[in-house]
Amino acid sequence: MPGPDPHELWIENHEPPYRVCHQAYFWTGNNGNRQARAVTILRRLARHDWYCRWCGDPLPDWRRADARYCCEGCRKRAARNRRVEREVWANDWR
Ligand SMILES: [Zn+2]
Repeated sequence: MPGPDPHELWIENHEPPYRVCHQAYFWTGNNGNRQARAVTILRRLARHDWYCRWCGDPLPDWRRADARYCCEGCRKRAARNRRVEREVWANDWR
């Protein structure tokens, strides 16, 4: 799934007070989605939840608000690791 436009939203302040900015659709007034995404990222920053589940780096600004990994590589490594864990777990029960 392609990520959002990298220029539409950015994190201005990674430390408290957190600040996430987004570019408004001035010409349509239709701002709901970006506003919602900015708020979601802001909440995750405040919860110290805006980092990669695999390598621990802060997520880049252009990731989707529900992203768990900083890049495709981390997502794949984590998926592979999960698969291995499941196999080990299954072997213990055999
Ligand atoms: Zn990562």
